[in-house]
Amino acid sequence: MTIKFFDLKVEYGAYKEELTAAALETLQSGHYIMGSKLKSFESAFAKYIGVKYCLGVGNGLDALKIILMGMETSGEDEIIVPAHTFIASWLPVSDLGAKLVPIEPDPSTFNINPKLIEKSINQNTKAIIAVHLYGRPVDMRALMRIGEKYNIPIIEDAAQAHGATGFGGKKCGGIGKAAAFSFYPTKNLGACGDAGAILTNDSRLYQIMSKIRNYGSSRKYIHDIQGVNSRMDELQASILSIKLKHIEDFNKKRQKIAACYSKNIQSRYVSKPKMDSHHVWHQYVIRVQKRSEFINHMKKFGVETMIHYPVPPHLTGVYKNQLNGIDLPITELLCAQVVSLPIYPGMSESDQFRVIQACNEYKQK
Ligand SMILES: *Cc1c(COP(=O)(O)O)cnc(C)c1O
Repeated sequence: MTIKFFDLKVEYGAYKEELTAAALETLQSGHYIMGSKLKSFESAFAKYIGVKYCLGVGNGLDALKIILMGMETSGEDEIIVPAHTFIASWLPVSDLGAKLVPIEPDPSTFNINPKLIEKSINQNTKAIIAVHLYGRPVDMRALMRIGEKYNIPIIEDAAQAHGATGFGGKKCGGIGKAAAFSFYPTKNLGACGDAGAILTNDSRLYQIMSKIRNYGSSRKYIHDIQGVNSRMDELQASILSIKLKHIEDFNKKRQKIAACYSKNIQSRYVSKPKMDSHHVWHQYVIRVQKRSEFINHMKKFGVETMIHYPVPPHLTGVYKNQLNGIDLPITELLCAQVVSLPIYPGMSESDQFRVIQACNEYKQK
């Protein structure tokens, strides 16, 4: 039997009664958009992360876009972004016509390297987007210091880091000016469809963003500002409220699998990720020199793997011509070497040990 990279049916199966009852109740309520289920998820999620305000939106990409719109981002602005990330961290920036300023990662964490940020700041720098990639908290202490020094807001892309601890006891998503979360089904906290959220402590920004997500309107048919239609629906909100009660447990399970991998994978050809007790292991990402050879070896052992991400954003068709000739060698090296191993709550121990065994029997040719 193949070990799947991810099996969403396991999580559903474990909470089937609760989830089905919640979904059924919403279906029978006859209220599907902007109702009580959304309100109660928003307050529960804000409380969990430790911020004042939460807005449920359509997805993680929209969450980032609405934050940037709320900050009145325009064509003159520059936004600092990590070079090594999922393309969704970049798309809202170019969508609003702003200039992307990619910064190389620290290869030991895969996250944006704070030491490389300051030289790219100028009078047009509007914001810095910090992505807690793979579930590992960015060095937010360093980023907040830079933000304060130059008076530039930090936007957190916490789409892979629900429940991870940042610094000073605060959770990722509760540190910067505003944060975007995604509840795409495979994320640490996943809906049964698309959903996302925005968090902030800034009441003015919150007021503006709550209009933006709803056609630029706070009262029906009164439209003050340019808006979009991006609202988390009641069905997703009711499902997420149930799953939110179990997020700590989901993350503990991921952390246990990561610890098991890190302890037992002992191959000199496999470079393991650095341990960090605050990491929530959205992905367990190793590095190998000969990636396709390694992936084929794992496949022969019946282990599915994935690559996050095979093409760095600056080399994709969208940005290749815009960012012509930009030199990002660390990002390109990482993208050529990273492999993600299966990790998800409910993954059996015997499957974990088959993954470990397959890694340990790999001999690079
Ligand atoms: C998933 C993800 C997003 C986008 O979220 P969607 O809900 O899929 O739109 C943004 N940034 C990162 C880092 C992600 O992993």
